[in-house]
Amino acid sequence: MEAVRWHAAGDLRFEDVELSLPLGPGMIEVEVAYCGICGSDLAEFRHNFAIRPEKAHPLTGHAPPVTLGHEFSGVVTASGEGVDQVRPGDRVSADACWRCGECKACLEGRYNQCIYSGSIGLSSDGAFAPLVRFPAYCAVPLPDSVPDEVGALLEPLAVGLHALDRGHARAGERVVVIGYGPVGAATALLARSLGLEPLVCELSPGRLARAEAHGFETHAPEPEKKDFARAVRGLTGGGAGVVVDCSGAVPALEAAMEMSERGGRIVIAGIPKKPVAVDAGRMVLFERELIATLGYANDLPRVAAMIASGALDPSVMITNRIALDEVGTEIERLAADPRDEVKVLAQVKG
Ligand SMILES: [Zn+2]
Ligand SMILES: [Zn+2]
Repeated sequence: MEAVRWHAAGDLRFEDVELSLPLGPGMIEVEVAYCGICGSDLAEFRHNFAIRPEKAHPLTGHAPPVTLGHEFSGVVTASGEGVDQVRPGDRVSADACWRCGECKACLEGRYNQCIYSGSIGLSSDGAFAPLVRFPAYCAVPLPDSVPDEVGALLEPLAVGLHALDRGHARAGERVVVIGYGPVGAATALLARSLGLEPLVCELSPGRLARAEAHGFETHAPEPEKKDFARAVRGLTGGGAGVVVDCSGAVPALEAAMEMSERGGRIVIAGIPKKPVAVDAGRMVLFERELIATLGYANDLPRVAAMIASGALDPSVMITNRIALDEVGTEIERLAADPRDEVKVLAQVKG
């Protein structure tokens, strides 16, 4: 079968490959319907972010080259011994986290912090391929009312839900979402569904227009971070209960720390590439909390239930659909300039 393979930063190939993982105990095989391009795929293309170039992963035994793709939906085609979570024919999405199940974090249900943590599509072959194999514990059954396309959005949506939970977001609160890429869009859409009032801040005019079209109150950041923070405090009536920075930009996070109300929470969802200065004195004076969020843990089933109940329609996140053989070129283009795209989906089957 042909798959999108990462060989090294800057080196993606669409090439013929065999399934590398055996269908051993606890494993399943899925025929992929849709798979989305993630910001982490772009990061791997740019500078090799989480893939360990030379070493086999301790949980998967896999070393690069690796098939990318971890945001997907499909149908179970086969299962190994001892699998009772799903059966062949079931429609599923996947929680992409490999986990050891034995470390302290795993035992406490925080498997996103597993000491061996790995991901489908980074630490084992992923879903930019007709077939993918992964542990059955990753499978998330799709309710009938959730279409395959939307099923491929569960994983990025779970990132947004986890960020809001980490920030103790409560219905009725103002939430500021900085950045309207896939994670920002997921966070804003979920926040609205949960009864919060989002304000979306985004530098790119194209993405800002998307947020506006999706019905959000929006704000284009001022060049000076002090002005940006002051403007947002004004727009939110003295500061938001929760501020989620999905941009990963140092000045944005610095401004975010001045955007919450007294006792507000600032959630770091983007990954700044440089250290960020924290004015600890001001954090104390306003009793603000600075909270990090990493991926998700046990969040996908809740997202699926929200969509099935009609509380959430995330289909607006899909801004482009492409074929599997176009994924490499599209990753290259998005890595250079995300334009106004939010989520680009590859139609893998049919
Ligand atoms: Zn992702
Ligand atoms: Zn673990």
